[in-house]
Amino acid sequence: MKGVGPARAAMLEAKGLRVVEDLLTYAPFRYEDRSNVKPISELAPGEMATVLGEVRTARASNFHRANLGMFEATFTDSSRAVLTGKWFHGSYLADVLKPGLKIALYGKIEFDSYAHGLAVMHPEFEILAGEEDGDHSLHTGRIVPIYEAAGKISARVFRGLLHRILESIPPVEDPMPSHLLRQLKLPDRWTAIRNLHFPEASSDLRLLNSFRSAAQFRLIFEEFFWLECGLELKRAKARVYPGIAFQLTDRVRSKIVEMLPFKPTGAQKRVLREIAKDMEAPHPMYRLLQGDVGSGKTLVAAEAAIIAIENGYQVAVLAPTEILATQHYFYFKKVFKKLNYVPLLLTGSHSQREKAQLKKVVAAGLAHVVVGTHALLESDVEFHKLGLAIIDEQHRFGVEQRQKLMLKGTHPDVLVMTATPIPRTLALTVYGDLDVSTIDEMPPGRKPIVTRHVEQIRIEQVYSFLKKQIEAGRQAYVVYPVIEESETQAMKAAQKMHQHLSQIVFPELSVGLLHGKLTPSEKEAAMEKFQRGEIQILVSTTVIEVGVDVPNATVMLIEQAERFGLAQLHQLRGRVGRGADQSYCILVTEKLNPVARERIRTLVESNDGFYIADMDMKLRGPGEFFGTRQSGLPALQIGNIVRDADILEVARNEAAAFVSHPPSEEELRRAVTYIRDHWQRRYGLVQVG
Ligand code: ADP
Ligand code: MG
Repeated sequence: MKGVGPARAAMLEAKGLRVVEDLLTYAPFRYEDRSNVKPISELAPGEMATVLGEVRTARASNFHRANLGMFEATFTDSSRAVLTGKWFHGSYLADVLKPGLKIALYGKIEFDSYAHGLAVMHPEFEILAGEEDGDHSLHTGRIVPIYEAAGKISARVFRGLLHRILESIPPVEDPMPSHLLRQLKLPDRWTAIRNLHFPEASSDLRLLNSFRSAAQFRLIFEEFFWLECGLELKRAKARVYPGIAFQLTDRVRSKIVEMLPFKPTGAQKRVLREIAKDMEAPHPMYRLLQGDVGSGKTLVAAEAAIIAIENGYQVAVLAPTEILATQHYFYFKKVFKKLNYVPLLLTGSHSQREKAQLKKVVAAGLAHVVVGTHALLESDVEFHKLGLAIIDEQHRFGVEQRQKLMLKGTHPDVLVMTATPIPRTLALTVYGDLDVSTIDEMPPGRKPIVTRHVEQIRIEQVYSFLKKQIEAGRQAYVVYPVIEESETQAMKAAQKMHQHLSQIVFPELSVGLLHGKLTPSEKEAAMEKFQRGEIQILVSTTVIEVGVDVPNATVMLIEQAERFGLAQLHQLRGRVGRGADQSYCILVTEKLNPVARERIRTLVESNDGFYIADMDMKLRGPGEFFGTRQSGLPALQIGNIVRDADILEVARNEAAAFVSHPPSEEELRRAVTYIRDHWQRRYGLVQVG
């Protein structure tokens, strides 16, 4: 393209803009109404206006407000009147606003008593002297798109580039099924693209800035529609691979009933039906089981394991941490005792000799359930006959690790679990190829956990509350902040806290310590003592975040809670409230910034994991929330799965309908080709079509 040399091409590419089509959907993140262009002499205080003028003077102000680093410039135009522009901390502008420079200013006009005239504070401005965009009408006198800059490519340059592209290429063809355009009253693609960049004068600025103009809606819908079609096609294709068809006989059912320690909730029954149906089918299951902390996912996993084991297969359970793996191991040992199944634990901290021994047992098929951490993924771990792979806290594992585990069997069924539940449509989108089951009901008799926020200076009151709970026979966790990167530092903090609590605050109580640097047997010992009630207060790092299950523990005290993420705090809180007694979560904070305050407020307000995940997504943004490990998360161009959740919903329904009942074979074929040509590169929909 003219105007794009190697340097600019590189800057564009760094933003993912490689071909002209990428630029067409490079959406402005904001619009400004600069249609009100006025001569300075006609400006009135209070109005938003655009002025085209020239810099007359520019200097740091040393008058009155010198300490604020105020920078002042005056501007004049053909009307000969003068307007003052003011910037706090604007000294950097000395190099930019040189007298004589032609400029467009946009902002709110005020009467300024110091200047005895009109002024504008922190105006948006653009230099009009650029050699390549002499056409001012692109940048002023209209609703103007504001693009995120790419390297040195400013919004202004983007405007110029897009204008030239739109002038010079023929209208792009509209690939959307025509019945959808009619039904949803969507503008055609070319109109939408043109209005995205250069909205008509009559456009509603508020709609534009909330991404709901007809053009934006159409393009967001389109992006979601093709993405969802791609995912549907991919899912449909995965479903026809050969897999294990487990038999769900009466014998299997009676084994499940025999194992169950209590009556499953309605939600547990429903998700088990969904899982069992997948397991019976002669194709691999690929299912996400999501449910809030404590909703009873492990029990459902155990039921699924029985189906596999009774059919003569082994089950692998992959957990992100040693503590969680150990917990699962104990859990399965307990519930499978009656059934005479053999569970086995395999983690990185077994000695080489032990590991070799354990691996032999697994390979010989002598262990029914193999629970482990990443050690389970090592290449020399071989199963005799792996039928079901269960992956807990799946967000901690990448897709490759899932793949590695699957390859240890011949198309085994896969069940991944997460305690960060999100709305179904979102889950189906973000977790791409997975089907989704959700436990949306808590086991009966749970009392909602009471959550309180306490400032550090009142910690003594918290300690005396803790003491009362212990005297009443309960137990407590005290979690100390973790600097994610360093388990060593976390350990030191926890050790110090342990010393303080055990020697000074609670010398008469039994205070235990748990952190990631303990050996597995030390960890196990600490957990067991806590389980048996021999330890009354367990001081810990976040290693206890997931999986720990001690119903008699009723207090979760989190120090420096401002340093934890929302999901993490909710997970930690989920360690209590598991028994019949009222439980408490106490969030102690030292220094609160506004976002941290919002997190704490959210937790105090709600116990609902769905609500908390939603808030977390909003506070952190979807990219941060799902993290880079979640390679399923597509890099969307214009759509935003949080902001545009409503459009996503519509698009998903339409896509599902389109793929399962296409208007014609011909239209479906066209869609598949289009997705393959245009969307595969972006979203990695590799197996489509
Ligand atoms: P999750 O893994 O979803 O966080 P768990 O499976 O650890 O939850 O279950 C949390 C607690 O609830 C455990 O103590 C478990 O024994 C108990 N539980 C699970 N299902 C039921 C049920 N249907 N009725 C009563 N208690 C249950
Ligand atoms: Mg669990």
